[in-house]
Amino acid sequence: MKKHRLATFSTALVTGIMIWVGSTVTSGQQGGPPDHPAVTVFGRTYTPASILSRNMGTADDQTTAFTPHRIIANIYYVGTRTLSSFLVVTPQGNILIDTTYERNVPTIRKSIEQLGFTFSDTKIVLGNHAHGDHQEGDALTKQLTGAQVMAMAEDVPALQAMKPGGKEHPIDRVVHDGESVTLGGTTLVAHLTAGHTRGATAWTTRVQDGGRNYDVVFFSSLRAPNVVTPDIEKEFDRSFAVVRKLPCDVPLGDHPAQYEMTDEFARVKPGAANPFIDKANCLREATIQEAVYRAVLDEQRKEPKITR
Ligand SMILES: [Zn+2]
Repeated sequence: MKKHRLATFSTALVTGIMIWVGSTVTSGQQGGPPDHPAVTVFGRTYTPASILSRNMGTADDQTTAFTPHRIIANIYYVGTRTLSSFLVVTPQGNILIDTTYERNVPTIRKSIEQLGFTFSDTKIVLGNHAHGDHQEGDALTKQLTGAQVMAMAEDVPALQAMKPGGKEHPIDRVVHDGESVTLGGTTLVAHLTAGHTRGATAWTTRVQDGGRNYDVVFFSSLRAPNVVTPDIEKEFDRSFAVVRKLPCDVPLGDHPAQYEMTDEFARVKPGAANPFIDKANCLREATIQEAVYRAVLDEQRKEPKITR
């Protein structure tokens, strides 16, 4: 009897371990990137999983407004704690970069109004890349404001597949690498920085502030997907070279952690230097992402081919 109990217990234990291992493998494949390889850059250690969690924060972080604020010149932050949304204000209406999740549109609207602007003045909607946490709210924003939604050609298929509540993703203008979007005297240039998505785009603009010119870059994520195919490898190799050449004084990112927004915002003081002007750190995020990407590639090459 005793032996039998022990055997039953061991079987249960083994089954339990197998289920636990099984669920870990499953979550690694479907629930997000793995927690390896680890690379240390600028004294901090990163893995694909740690970068995703740094970018996204908690469910609350994704939907809670961060204090809306002016970044520089006519550029404002109107996003949540972990999902960036930028408002570019012009005399002929405003450009909104990244509507984030559809459920955040009322939050973004409130942030715009808190700054003293009007949501229905949104004339153009741009995106950094075709993932739901950045562009799912485009259809609702267009419904509420009548804005023109513009998208990088290579991201059009992914955007067309994004249909919150069955709504078609609006695309009023297809933009190609190097083309620009102008409204009320502000021009934004689209730079294809593919890899994270096929049409991931860094938007750049030049602003005047305090009598000086500054180059602002709205970087898109350069985080490698779980499996880097030869096509994606070509895209990343090109993109890392592209971002290194972009003129930059003010680096921004589609997740605030990419430019350490919280720390910079804490340093905003009347009379102090604008902490968002941070030329020295323009390539910090790209350097971190490239290190992780190279390590992911190395690991992938060393892994024995899995045949099914
Ligand atoms: Zn993404």
